Amino acid sequence: MVVGDISTGTELLVIGGGPGGYAAAIRGGQLGLDVTLVEADAYGGTCLNEGCIPSKALIHASDLAHEVDGAEGMGIHARVDVDLRGLVGWKDGIVDRLTDGVETLCTANGVNLVAGRAEFVDDGTARVAHGGEGRGSESIEFEHAVIATGSRPIELPELPFDGERILHSGDVLALDSLPDSMLVVGGGYIGMELSTTFAKLGSDVTVVEALGDILPRYADDITRLVRERAEALGVEFRLGEAATGFEETGSVARVSTETEAGETNGYDAERVLVAVGREPASDTCNVGAAGVEPNDDGAIETDDATRTGVEHVHAVGDVAGEPMLAHAAYREGHVAAEVVAGEPARLDQQAIPAAVFTDPEIGSVGLDADGAAAEGFDPVVGEMPLAASGRALTLGADEGFVRVIADADTEFVLGARIVAPAASELIAEVGLAIEMGARLGDIAATVHTHPTLSEAVAEAAANARGAALHVPNR
Ligand code: FAD
Ligand code: NAD
Repeated sequence: MVVGDISTGTELLVIGGGPGGYAAAIRGGQLGLDVTLVEADAYGGTCLNEGCIPSKALIHASDLAHEVDGAEGMGIHARVDVDLRGLVGWKDGIVDRLTDGVETLCTANGVNLVAGRAEFVDDGTARVAHGGEGRGSESIEFEHAVIATGSRPIELPELPFDGERILHSGDVLALDSLPDSMLVVGGGYIGMELSTTFAKLGSDVTVVEALGDILPRYADDITRLVRERAEALGVEFRLGEAATGFEETGSVARVSTETEAGETNGYDAERVLVAVGREPASDTCNVGAAGVEPNDDGAIETDDATRTGVEHVHAVGDVAGEPMLAHAAYREGHVAAEVVAGEPARLDQQAIPAAVFTDPEIGSVGLDADGAAAEGFDPVVGEMPLAASGRALTLGADEGFVRVIADADTEFVLGARIVAPAASELIAEVGLAIEMGARLGDIAATVHTHPTLSEAVAEAAANARGAALHVPNR
């Protein structure tokens, strides 16, 4: 049966049900707005379905398998067999639970959920093609809109995704058997998180990175720790080589690379993960019809109220450009809904944290010393190496550090860099300190539970003041 075209109206139309979109929809519902959320594929977007959550599930499982396998030194003897199909099934269960939760939360907050692909017709109307043949379409008139259509993996024309040999991160997170060998193109966030994971699960992993080092956004002493640990796990690095093409040779792909000097190489692998960045998905909903113009990178630029150039049309999350992080998307979605509801909300946070879930993890927030100096501060740096942390030693993790950066005159906390187990959690304390305008003494004088890794944050702050107990002070 063909369902004909129907016409509806809504106060706030949200296009895309990922972290940015569902945050906007739920917050809008909480504030009493009449909200319609349109999702073309699966609620939860990239983050819940093929990004943050699936990758962290696999990372946790690979840590477990690897730790048990290597625990002889602790007197624990075990034989580990990895059944990737079972592991991926467990991960899918977590995803289902969370995506169901998003639907339930939206409904509980009065959000009208529409399944289908939305496209703007003009700056007050969108059409939604309902999923599935013969399902008809719907015209939705809106007062305000939030574009939250996310991003997608960048495809290299020389290595097009085929779902078999040349894979994007979503494909890799759904594999049902462990590849003997995996070539990872790109040593960024995804490349480093997943190369470590698959090395721990037992694949032979090679990372090809075009630049001279992995994780280009991080300082040398941070990337060195992560790279050396990955090397110890068996990951091979080909730095300064860009992937330039591939050919199938029997049951493997041969990926060719080229250095800046023009030297070429070739590497064979059963599977190839291409993780060379993500691009905003600003071309999925005909934004031009609403008067919105993406920039040259495809991102929709916004002001601090998440407004695009069109007053009543907002953009949040990955489609609005860097940082392409789920927690940034949540915050932006939140602000968009509050602005639409007439609240004085703004994107006014002092710092947005970032974490790389490698081994060890990296946590980062605010300024480093160079950044602080560039902003006119006289930076003071305090550090606590993990080798001096009792808790780190009990976790078998003595490589890494907590580094806190502050302004020397005022002692206001400006940032932190942490390389440690659970750095993704530890960094939150410094984020809070920055938002609250805390000083080094506030962190140092706060009693931290013993024995914990969080004590290292307090010691790093104390070290910056020349008052640490467990490390020599500068
Ligand atoms: P998305 O989550 O991409 O959601 C966009 C949604 O819009 C999709 O569901 C899509 O189907 C829908 N859509 C698109 N066009 C239309 C249309 N026309 N009509 C209707 N619906 C439409 N970030 C972190 O902070 N921490 C992490 O640990 C982390 N790990 C990651 C690991 C991987 C492997 C990947 C790929 C990403 C990771 N990210 C992580 C990034 C994070 O997933 C994104 O920043 C986040 O999902 C962005 O949210 P969003 O709402 O902007 O977009
Ligand atoms: P990325 O930008 O982090 O890294 C891409 C890497 O690929 C770079 O180091 C780049 O030099 C390299 N590269 C580009 N072209 C190449 C080529 N031809 N050959 C070899 N190397 C090449 O991108 P990503 O890892 O794909 O991740 C995309 C985004 O997803 C991240 O920027 C981040 O916003 C998000 N993400 C976040 C997390 C997290 O928060 N923990 C985890 C995964 C993804």
